[in-house]
Amino acid sequence: MRDETRTRGWFLRDPRCRKWIVQCAACGLFGRKPEAPASVPKYRFEEMFPILKLDELGVCQHCREPSSASADE
Ligand SMILES: [Zn+2]
Repeated sequence: MRDETRTRGWFLRDPRCRKWIVQCAACGLFGRKPEAPASVPKYRFEEMFPILKLDELGVCQHCREPSSASADE
């Protein structure tokens, strides 16, 4: 029997994990901050939340298209 309680919500409810979890404002992808310590006391935390680097707008690299058509500056 697999323990299915270790869902994303299970991590998000724990403040020790929550403070390292980030979410892309565009696509909603979850990940962990690059500076998150390897010692987060949560089973499979690093597996569930790969390192996700967000820019100053909170957008991940996949969503930050260099050739974005919205030249709205
Ligand atoms: Zn994204």
